[in-house]
Amino acid sequence: MHEVIVVGAGPAGSVTATVLAQAGRDVLLLDRTGFPRDKACGDMIPWGAVQLMFDLGMGEAVRAADFYPIKAARIVSPSGVVFETSLADHGGLDTCIVPREVFDTLLWEHACKSGAHFEIVQVEEPILQDGRVVGVRGRAPESRYAGGESAQGGALREIRAQLVIAADGATSVIARALRGTKSPDLHRAVALRAYVDDLDLTDHMSESYFTRDLIPGYGWVFPAGERCANVGVGLRLDLFRRKGRTLKEMLDDFLHLPMIAARRGRDSRVEKVLVWQLNFGSDVFPRAYDGALLIGDAGGFTDPLTGGGIYGAMVTGKLAAEVALQALAEGDPRRQALAPFEAGWRQQLWPSFRLGYWLQRWLISSPRLVDLIVAFMVRHPGLVQYLANKL
Ligand SMILES: Cc1cc2nc3c(=O)[nH]c(=O)nc-3n(C[C@H](O)[C@H](O)[C@H](O)COP(=O)(O)OP(=O)(O)OC[C@H]3O[C@@H](n4cnc5c(N)ncnc54)[C@H](O)[C@@H]3O)c2cc1C
Repeated sequence: MHEVIVVGAGPAGSVTATVLAQAGRDVLLLDRTGFPRDKACGDMIPWGAVQLMFDLGMGEAVRAADFYPIKAARIVSPSGVVFETSLADHGGLDTCIVPREVFDTLLWEHACKSGAHFEIVQVEEPILQDGRVVGVRGRAPESRYAGGESAQGGALREIRAQLVIAADGATSVIARALRGTKSPDLHRAVALRAYVDDLDLTDHMSESYFTRDLIPGYGWVFPAGERCANVGVGLRLDLFRRKGRTLKEMLDDFLHLPMIAARRGRDSRVEKVLVWQLNFGSDVFPRAYDGALLIGDAGGFTDPLTGGGIYGAMVTGKLAAEVALQALAEGDPRRQALAPFEAGWRQQLWPSFRLGYWLQRWLISSPRLVDLIVAFMVRHPGLVQYLANKL
C-alpha cells in the first residue's frame, strides 16, 4: 500500500510526484511508457511553466538544457492582415520552444531524483471499494525503466494507495471511470503537429494563422531549430466533425498558404505527424472524488482560446500535491478533504478559461471579425502590447 499513486508522468504527473516526494511522501509514479517519449504538442512552454520549474528546484537543469526563447509573435488574419509584436520579458523568463521529448524527460527525471518511485504500467482502471478509489489495476512488463518501452501485454496487477492522482492525459482511463461522461464537443478540440524542415523562419518568433478553415482554431509555425519548425493545426471538435475532412488534409492546405509555401525549400519534408485531443477547462464537472483527483489533461485543464495545456497541467499538478499533503496529514483523503483542489483551480485558472471560451465562441468566430480585430491590432500596437503584457 502506497500513500499516493500518480498515473501518468507528463508535466502534470511529474510535477505532482515531485512536490509529494520533496515533502517526504511515498509516491509511486506510473506511466505506460518509459522516457524519453514524444507527445503531440506545439512544444510552446509558457514562461509561467518555466517559472514553476525554477520553483521546483530545476533551475540548473533548465539552464543546462538551453531552451529556445520566443521574443516576438506574428498573428495573421484570414485575409492575410499581419500583426507583429515583441513579447514581454517576465523577469528574465521567456516563453520557450522545447521538444516534449526533452521537456517531459527533464520533469520526469526531476520527479525520480526527488524520490518518486517510477514504474512502467499501463493502467486500465481504478479499483473502487464502497465508491472510493483505493488503487489501480494495470499491466506491467517484465523488465522496467527501459526508455521507450511499452507496458502493453504484461500481467494484470493491483496496486493500492490512500490516494490516486490521475494525470493520464486527455484519454484518461481514471477520468472515464469516475466521470462516466465526456465533455461536450464545444469544450473539446483536436489538433495535429508535425515538424517541417528546410523552411525560412524569423528567429525567435512564433507565428499563428487564423485561417477561414480553422477559426476559432488556428495553424501555427513555431521555430524548433535551424530552418526547422513545429507546424500544426487545431480546431474545436464540433467544427471539425462538420468539416468532414481529416486534420492531415487541413495541414496540407495550411502548408499551401502562400505565406508558408513560398518559404519552403525544395527539400522541405513533413515529418513526425501526430494527432491528439484536448479537453478545455471551460467545462464544469467534478475533479475531486473519494480518494482521487483529476489533474492536467485528465481533468480537462487546457485553455479554450489557445489550446495550451502545459501551464494548467503543472499548476494543477502542484495544487493537487499541496491538497494531498494536507489530506494525508489529516489521515483521510476523502472527497471533502480534497475539495480545496476544486476551490484552488477555480481561483487560479477559471477566470482565464471563462474569458478564453467566451472569446473563441463569440469574438473570433467569423473570418470578417478576425480580420477587423487584427486590423485594429495593427493600428493600436501599443494598446495590444499593454494588454498582452498583463497576461
Ligand atoms: C497537437 C497539440 C499541440 C499542443 N500544443 C501545445 C503547446 O504548444 N503548448 C501547451 O502549453 N500545450 C499544448 N498542447 C496541450 C498539451 O500537450 C497538454 O495540455 C499537456 O501535455 C498536458 O499534460 P498532462 O501531463 O496532463 O498530460 P500528457 O502530457 O498527455 O501526459 C499524460 C501521460 O500519461 C501517460 N498515460 C496515458 N494513459 C495512461 C495509462 N492508461 N496508464 C499509464 N500511463 C498513461 C502518457 O504516456 C503520458 O506520459 C497541445 C496539444 C496538442 C494535442
